[in-house]
Amino acid sequence: MAYTITLIPGDGIGPEVTAASVRVLSATGIDFHWEMQAAGAATMASEGTALPERVLASIRRNRVALKGPTATPVGGGHRSVNVALRKELDLYANLRPVRSHAGIKSRYEGVDLVVIRENTEDLYSGIEHVVVPGVVESLKIITRKASTRIARFAFEYASRNGRRKITAVHKANIMKLSDGLFLDCCREIATQYPGVSYDEIIVDNACMQLVLDPTQFDTLLLENLYGDIVSDLCAGLVGGLGLAPSGNIGETGALFEAVHGTAPDIAGKNRANPLALLLSSAMMLDHLGETQAAAWLRSAIHDTTREGRPLTPDLGGSASTSEVADAIAARVEAQRGR
Ligand code: NAD
Repeated sequence: MAYTITLIPGDGIGPEVTAASVRVLSATGIDFHWEMQAAGAATMASEGTALPERVLASIRRNRVALKGPTATPVGGGHRSVNVALRKELDLYANLRPVRSHAGIKSRYEGVDLVVIRENTEDLYSGIEHVVVPGVVESLKIITRKASTRIARFAFEYASRNGRRKITAVHKANIMKLSDGLFLDCCREIATQYPGVSYDEIIVDNACMQLVLDPTQFDTLLLENLYGDIVSDLCAGLVGGLGLAPSGNIGETGALFEAVHGTAPDIAGKNRANPLALLLSSAMMLDHLGETQAAAWLRSAIHDTTREGRPLTPDLGGSASTSEVADAIAARVEAQRGR
């Protein structure tokens, strides 16, 4: 089977880690045609927009994209490419598996969590205005439609992937209407999936419980803002951003990217850890139905971290991005040949 995939190299370390993924994915033997689409801060400078229409058109056509990180200015400047992509393409579900990796130092063992975050509304609706000088209002939008949709996605994902329990994370004790509506929708959908257990936890307690013992959770279901914060917290439980993959999934398209940003401090030095985007690439393979190739790739990553080499400096190694990519590609090829 041949696939045409939109490839967004992005800014900073983006071109290095996307090149590593392209290299490793070619080792699966699957016929990928990559449609390169520039987006991000560099594109803002050259084309006057960080997310040109051609990028959206390419993803709409191909339905699957692999993306490197894109830089977003803090405070003013252009709108986040990520937020815009998710909204424009209605990629409403953000899926972040968080697993312990053999050989990677972290305080916890046996972590196997999935974080499912609503991607389109909440405080990320971007509706902010100055009421009077010195007073700013930022609106939190929660709708029955989006909350029901993400809850259904979570329960479908759990039942298809053998997950035991979904925990909805909220602050409905304070935000009784908005988070209350989110919980109502989760509870209603939960009744339709008797095979998956369901419970709820307040977001501040969830953070403390995650740090005390992350293995007490299975699948977390959150609104956009809590999901953003808690998923980074979860990435820290298993060794940091260099190993955190994600998928942004909608009815008509899906975009896979690492959780990390453009890492301007190491950009262009061939030092970036490619494993997070490689794990995102494995999620992409699963999404395409290429589960055998996804398993080869995950096992190649697992063997590499277990042996402790080659690894990039953020994981205590001394290898370059391309050395790690070459080693994982060789492992994928070896499994393919078995
Ligand atoms: P960052 O993730 O870029 O960097 C945080 C720290 O982690 C840095 O020390 C960096 O060197 C390190 N790091 C990140 N990824 C790494 C990797 N693959 N290998 C080795 N080390 C890695 O976060 P930041 O500094 O807060 O953000 C920088 C820029 O990235 C900002 O413009 C931000 O908007 C953008 N960003 C983009 C995305 C995305 O496109 N998905 C996500 C987060 C941040």
